[in-house]
Amino acid sequence: MGDYVLIPKPGSKINLKDYDPDYHGNEDKSSAQKEIQVLQDEMQEFQERLYAEGKQSLLIVLQAMDTGGKDGAIKKVFEGINPQGVHVAAFKAPTPEELAHDFLWRVHQHIPQKGHIGIFNRSHYEDVLVVRVNNLVPESVWKHRYEHINHFERLIADSGTRILKFYLHISKDEQKKRLQARLDTPEKNWKFSSGDLPVRQQWNDYMKAYESVLERCNTEYAPWYIIPANAKWYRDLVITRAIVAALKDMRPAYPPPEPDLDKIVIPD
Ligand code: AMP
Ligand code: MG
Repeated sequence: MGDYVLIPKPGSKINLKDYDPDYHGNEDKSSAQKEIQVLQDEMQEFQERLYAEGKQSLLIVLQAMDTGGKDGAIKKVFEGINPQGVHVAAFKAPTPEELAHDFLWRVHQHIPQKGHIGIFNRSHYEDVLVVRVNNLVPESVWKHRYEHINHFERLIADSGTRILKFYLHISKDEQKKRLQARLDTPEKNWKFSSGDLPVRQQWNDYMKAYESVLERCNTEYAPWYIIPANAKWYRDLVITRAIVAALKDMRPAYPPPEPDLDKIVIPD
């Protein structure tokens, strides 16, 4: 396999079999860990500027199969970041109240406010993934959602939110190892859910549903990254790089100080 295309060209046909989940370029774990630390210092500085500036926000969407590493990436990538100004939203099966609204209703309220970073652990994409694979609504309903999502993300982007979407791509074999580890390691037992097994049986259907997402909702204003995620260190490195590059590009700036600060005397 040759070069790995991290962000496919918008509109291009995607076959996930062309993307090697084991890919890690010619990089190695120990230099990756050092680079992540350096990048995290930069991320902290940018986050402070973003917060102080209060004019733009950053939304990070994480999607993956079970055990794909969404929780692990959140824990690692945002290590050391100031919790003030960061908001993680995890999307589970919708409540009756959520189901009584349109599918974006519950999502919209978690879009990060100006100055903040928002992290989605699963997202509105579940409504064209699990929902499509299991026919939770008829095709006549879910088929329009790609367009709804694109319009929604356009609104968010036009309102000052930079959007980065990461699909963590693991292999079916790697998932087996990770599920087994959840059975074998007492500290991981709580993460094992027998409900994940029937989902694993639907692997190929899910890959097809992900391919549709990557083909139809990969836009200039809200790009999808296909992250090779069998190697956790490489996954974290690539995500951290992408976030720091986006923050750099956003150029958040400290607001100007009040005038004549040098003339102010703090009273006793
Ligand atoms: P976890 O992330 O492991 O806690 O699992 C959350 C579960 O909620 C997964 O099985 C998701 O597929 C499911 N889920 C999330 N969003 C939706 C949705 N819109 N419709 C149905 N199930 C969902
Ligand atoms: Mg789970």
